Amino acid sequence: MSEVLNILKKKKIQLFFLFYVLLLLPLLCPFAQNFSFIDKVAVFVVCGLLFAAIWALSLFISSKSEKIIYSVMLAISVIPGSIYLAYLLFARVMLEQNSVTSLFETNPEESKEFVAHYLSIWVIVGVLIYAAIPIVMICTMKPFTKLKIRDNKPLFALSIVTILCIAGVDRISRSVYFINFYKTFVSYKIRTNYEIKTIKERQKEDYTVESVRQDTTPLTIVVVIGESLNKHHMSLYGYPRETNPLLSQLGDSLIVYKDIVAPQVHTIPVMRSILSMAEPEHPGYFTEKPSLYELFNRGGYGTYLISNQEFNEDCKSSYDILLTLAEKKYNVAAYKQHDDIILPVLDRIFNKSANSKKNKLILIHLIGNHMAYEFRYPKEYIIFNYKKDNLVADAPFRDDKAKKTIDKFDNSVLYNDYIINSIIHTLKDLQKEDAVMIYFSDHGEELYDYREFAGHAYEKVSPAMSEIPFIIWMSPSYKTKRTDLVFDDRRPYSTEDFIYSLSDLAGLRYKDYNDSRSLFSREFKIKERFVGEKKYKKIKEKFGEGIMNE
Ligand SMILES: [Zn+2]
Repeated sequence: MSEVLNILKKKKIQLFFLFYVLLLLPLLCPFAQNFSFIDKVAVFVVCGLLFAAIWALSLFISSKSEKIIYSVMLAISVIPGSIYLAYLLFARVMLEQNSVTSLFETNPEESKEFVAHYLSIWVIVGVLIYAAIPIVMICTMKPFTKLKIRDNKPLFALSIVTILCIAGVDRISRSVYFINFYKTFVSYKIRTNYEIKTIKERQKEDYTVESVRQDTTPLTIVVVIGESLNKHHMSLYGYPRETNPLLSQLGDSLIVYKDIVAPQVHTIPVMRSILSMAEPEHPGYFTEKPSLYELFNRGGYGTYLISNQEFNEDCKSSYDILLTLAEKKYNVAAYKQHDDIILPVLDRIFNKSANSKKNKLILIHLIGNHMAYEFRYPKEYIIFNYKKDNLVADAPFRDDKAKKTIDKFDNSVLYNDYIINSIIHTLKDLQKEDAVMIYFSDHGEELYDYREFAGHAYEKVSPAMSEIPFIIWMSPSYKTKRTDLVFDDRRPYSTEDFIYSLSDLAGLRYKDYNDSRSLFSREFKIKERFVGEKKYKKIKEKFGEGIMNE
């Protein structure tokens, strides 16, 4: 025992080092608003045990080896540590599993803009200090005489078993931030490789998709997926600022759905959900059942993708594999332009296929209203100014900077109005075809609605992030033909089931089709809606209406 005490005296710095790397985050954990008391205790207990086990094990190694091991530990923990700490200190949340996955998937351009929005000199200084402190500790560690294993076998064995249990058992290791970070990365890589391989292979297998449309007029369906649009900032939904001057003129020909929510509040999980039949109870359906493009390809449609969000045929994101199934793909994101870049591409598609009798599905993925908002519109759209129109409601958490941000967001909503209206006009010009346009946002966006926060993050999920605009325009000829469909704009729905609604609108039937999950079906059934793992109803109860409509 006295031997251990002697070593302890010489290893004070080592003790501080381990404390710093392993216990700093758990100690700050009580700040996390998204963690329950039990979660916080679990993190603290698991990290505390790991701290004790590594400390005990370190008594058996030489001081030189210890410095090498601690340097490696620092190298692997500093990046996840800085990210977790930054989220905890600035957003008051502990990163959750699916957000860690999102970190690996987000495209570099988008991340740059995201970082630009949140980055301040204090964040940079904080990260530098955070990394420098343990480096100084390693450099000043004093040499000591190690313990002999043969004299202390139980302690040695116990510490090894503890470390292996914590690192090996999935549920336990989630509580240790850097182990969770790397494990998530590995399982994400394994999962995506499997999905890419399986989805490619399933295209060669048989799967029958039939059309129930008797009519021979070619049908064009344009699905426009927007980005981060808060519907409460659209005058179509009652916002006092006139952010939809063009769409408002379309009157009754536009159906504006009032109660639609997104299945998640991040682009990638939402895209995975709307493009496939995957559902929380059956995530395996992502590969086991056909996805959106596959259904339309098999149903005889010409399929197109125009994307102003980074899309990669080498499948860098876990939904790219579903997009690569489109027959023709136009990746316009590389030009880094505003969303009007999609309009000439759309014209080109129609010009090229002017004499074709084939039905078409065109999916347009906009950069929409993504942060940082001022990059989303040309300067002619710098319109709104809260000081002049007094239409941005006051709140204790809305300072001048927040109100300016709301101005910028509203400019981007106004620009989005122009884009959607232009798409509809292009469709109106198609003389010999029936046409449908559906626009919805992948998820919503919070804009200082309940607190000092703008953006979207699952850890802070709120109604403003979950509720989405959902609008449909149809050529009058098509609307009159589809008397079998019901367009009730009050139906509560989640775009998780979008694949069934689109199939219904296109008149496609296949063995996995489910009528009760189509927004337009007579057989439609209301079901409980989830945003990630949380019930939408509960999110709504927690936040109420905020100050959105004042
Ligand atoms: Zn998004």
